[in-house]
Amino acid sequence: MLLERIRTVTDAIREATARAGRPDGSVKLLSVTKSHPADTVRDALDHGLTVLGENRVQEAIAKFEPIRAELPGPAYELHLIGHLQSNKAAKVPGLFDWVQSVDSIALAQALSRRCDQAGVTIDLLLQFNSSGEQTKSGYADPDALVDDAAAIASLASLRLRGIMTIGPFTDDVRLITDAFARTRALFERVATALPDECIDTLSMGMSDDYRIAIGEGSTLVRIGSALFGARS
Ligand SMILES: *Cc1c(COP(=O)(O)O)cnc(C)c1O
Repeated sequence: MLLERIRTVTDAIREATARAGRPDGSVKLLSVTKSHPADTVRDALDHGLTVLGENRVQEAIAKFEPIRAELPGPAYELHLIGHLQSNKAAKVPGLFDWVQSVDSIALAQALSRRCDQAGVTIDLLLQFNSSGEQTKSGYADPDALVDDAAAIASLASLRLRGIMTIGPFTDDVRLITDAFARTRALFERVATALPDECIDTLSMGMSDDYRIAIGEGSTLVRIGSALFGARS
C-alpha cells in the first residue's frame, strides 16, 4: 500500500520536474506524518522515507521520543512545519532538525538561544503567507521578510536556508500558480540579498498542489495524505 503510493508520488515528482525543464533529483520529498501514529513513521523509515514533517511540538515529542531511542544516530531528519510559539523553542533542539515556520525575529532569537545552549545547529525557513488568508501564519509583507532574513541569518546556531509557503486553499490553478510564483520571486530576492548564506530551499507544494509548485520552482514538497491516506 505505502510502497505503491510512494511510487505514484515519486513518479509524479519526477514527471513534473522534467516538464519544468529542471534536473532530475532537484525536488526533495518530505513525508508529513502528522496525525498518524509512530508505526506509520516506522513504516515510512522502512521504505526509505527519511525526511519527515510534523506540525505540532507535543505530538512530535510523544511520537518521536521512542523512535529516537530505537534509532540512535541521524537515521532521519525531522522538520517542524506548523506554527511555533517562542515559549516552546526550548523543545526544538534534539527533536527537530529544521523549523520551516519561522515568522518573527523574536522566535528566531529564542531558537538561536536554545540551540546555542544545547550545542546544536538547526536549519530554518521563513514562512511566507502567500495566499493572504487570515488563518495562515507567516510573513504577509515580503519586504518585512527580506529585512528580517538578514538579521536572522546572523544569529548563532541557526542556518537560514530559504522560504516555506502554504498555497491558497482553492481549486483555481491560476491563483495557486500565482501564489507559488510570488513565493519563488521572494526566495530569489532573499538569495540575492544574502549572497554569503546557503539559501537553497524553497518549500512549497502539498498533496493537492505539488505538481504546480514544482513547475514554479519548489525544491521541497511536503506530502501527507497522498502517502499515508486521509487524516481523521
Ligand atoms: C498537513 C501539512 C502538509 C501535508 O498536507 P497534505 O495535503 O496531506 O499533503 C504540508 N504542509 C503543512 C504545513 C501541513 O500542515
